[in-house]
Amino acid sequence: MKHISIVVPVYNERENIHSLITEVQKVFEELPYTYSFIIVDDGSIDGTLDVLRMASAADTRIRYISLSKNFGHQNALKAGLDHARGDCVITMDGDLQHPPALIPHLVTYWEQGYDVVYTLRQDDETNTGYAKRKTSRLFYKLMNRMADLDIEEGSADFRLLSKKVLYTLQGIDEHEIFFRGLVKWVGFRQIGVPYKAAPRTKGQSKYSFKKMMRFAVQGITSFSTKPLYIAAYLGLVFSFLALLYIPYALVSYLSGHVVNGWASIIVTIAFFGGLQLSILGIIGLYIGKIFMQVKKRPHYIIKELKHVQEAISSTQF
Ligand code: UDP
Ligand code: MG
Repeated sequence: MKHISIVVPVYNERENIHSLITEVQKVFEELPYTYSFIIVDDGSIDGTLDVLRMASAADTRIRYISLSKNFGHQNALKAGLDHARGDCVITMDGDLQHPPALIPHLVTYWEQGYDVVYTLRQDDETNTGYAKRKTSRLFYKLMNRMADLDIEEGSADFRLLSKKVLYTLQGIDEHEIFFRGLVKWVGFRQIGVPYKAAPRTKGQSKYSFKKMMRFAVQGITSFSTKPLYIAAYLGLVFSFLALLYIPYALVSYLSGHVVNGWASIIVTIAFFGGLQLSILGIIGLYIGKIFMQVKKRPHYIIKELKHVQEAISSTQF
């Protein structure tokens, strides 16, 4: 029988773990596969780890990895994927917003030969706020323009990956991973399945507006250097405009009205000051990325694990 690994990053999801496990187990009772969970505790401080310890003591299919602190959703996901050894792997959130009932559909596509079966959240008023829907739509538009990717709107971190893709991802060691982009980027046969996200019933969302903005900037800058080109082009355009300004300056000078033009000078200085700062900022973003990458720090540090085979490259004490 083929084995399916279910990778779930969790951060302070104590109240959700039991229902998640029972829901997924129910789904697998109907499926001809063996399965195991790899639940990654991303440095929770609400007793999530205790719940995991108890659950895995009773059932060896419930495996967990506990990280030494909060490393963030994407790094926790990486920790889980690095340790997954199934014939395929399904990643999903721990708050039951990703309906386990969709798992059989994902698996059917996999059996048909697809290597990536990703899911698309169908947003409407009932499950997502107005602001989140609009910003999410804007993000995907911008992202696809900037990076030559075609990430569909509503792409979620709920997906099935074949062994081939899993091994490919395990071999990629870049800082600030953005799985939504990376999974699309690796290629192979991919297909999207729409689903309706359930509202979160217990616990709180860990993505604040600030975190989402940061996530968006990280996503774009890890897949595209177009912002740098835009900066360079803007520089060129404005240098050209500045050339046009020379005759005006000369004429003013020759006609003796040198004090004239204070307003235009101050406006120009302020404008170019702002432009230069923002361009420097864009360049700075990329330098920051290079800085973090060359340090080669691990994506996560494991504090404790159970029923999970050690990945060769990971740091563990
Ligand atoms: N999560 C995590 N580390 C973090 C933040 C979130 O492992 O630093 C987990 C969280 O427990 C959940 C998933 O990532 O299982 C998605 O987070 P959340 O539900 O808060 O995001 P939203 O659905 O609101 O976008
Ligand atoms: Mg959620």
